[in-house]
Amino acid sequence: MIVAKIKELLEVPRKVVITTHYKPDGDAIGSSLGLYNYLLKKGHAVTFIAPSDYPDFLQWMAGNEHVIEIQKDPVGSATAIEAAEIIFCLDFNRISRCESVAPHIAAAKGFKVNIDHHLEPESFCDLELTDPTASSTAELIYRFIVAMGDRALLDQDIAECIYTGIMTDTASFRFVSATAETYEVAADLIRAGARNYIAHEAIYDVWSEDRIRLVGYCTQEKMMVLNEFNTAIIGLSNAELNRFHHKTGDTEGIVNIPLSIKNIRLSVLFVERKGEVKISFRSKDDFSVRDFSDKYFEGGGHKNASGGRSSLSLEDTIKRFISLLPEYKAELTR
Ligand code: 5GP
Ligand code: MN
Repeated sequence: MIVAKIKELLEVPRKVVITTHYKPDGDAIGSSLGLYNYLLKKGHAVTFIAPSDYPDFLQWMAGNEHVIEIQKDPVGSATAIEAAEIIFCLDFNRISRCESVAPHIAAAKGFKVNIDHHLEPESFCDLELTDPTASSTAELIYRFIVAMGDRALLDQDIAECIYTGIMTDTASFRFVSATAETYEVAADLIRAGARNYIAHEAIYDVWSEDRIRLVGYCTQEKMMVLNEFNTAIIGLSNAELNRFHHKTGDTEGIVNIPLSIKNIRLSVLFVERKGEVKISFRSKDDFSVRDFSDKYFEGGGHKNASGGRSSLSLEDTIKRFISLLPEYKAELTR
């Protein structure tokens, strides 16, 4: 990773802003707070602006109490971005992915750095440290810190944030993206003080009763298995979410469950959200849900994990999705 330019900029204390994508996930928060704690330790004035709320299970990492959600402090957020000398955009490849933060970033004068691992990054920064083969943006933050010559600065706080980002984006080191190098990074993070067992418990063992019942309801009542296409789908309406007192993050992971069924290679979750349907795609092997969501559902992401949206009703979105499957039958049943 070539960091000469940014290293030079960071030689004196700077005003820095970090931001990430809308509805941040574990990698978005883990990588951002890892970088936040590191830059703070180096003496910079750092502000982390989140474009939206995020789940409770991501709120235990060091520095979380200083995160600014733009909706809660629009003026403070705008002022910080405008004043920033350096802006880090983490874990997203299109400026629109940071939603209401995007116009401020676009107008900002600071030096912009994109650190990300999504495919086909759009060029919206001055420096791009992107690698679509990386397991996670958090792994890239580790590599960034090492490339800066600062391995020795890693401490428990920084290491635990980064570890959490890698762990969540690789589904606990089980995806193909978790390479030998990823495991080496994880080992070094544990050496630096990351408590892997704490990260695991704090993320995965903090479910509400409602959340676990919602998952049961999804698999028992809502999952449609289309064996003909090796595909499973789950659709959730707003009313159903309300019935289970839905909170941000409660539907996370549900889309992965059907992939545990033998032969299922494509799993899709449709969730009704204010005025649109948010769609999550997961696949196995070669079927690219990134291409599929990009082509039909204004989305993108990774080959085996992507997202998109639809402005049709939930029912019509699902109908439309099913109508697209015959074209992919050969690919899905190969
Ligand atoms: P999730 O299904 O967990 O929301 O998202 C899976 C992956 O797809 C993530 O890496 C996320 O960044 C990406 N993704 C989700 N929604 C969208 C979207 O609307 N547009 C793009 N370009 N990527 C998305
Ligand atoms: Mn990520």
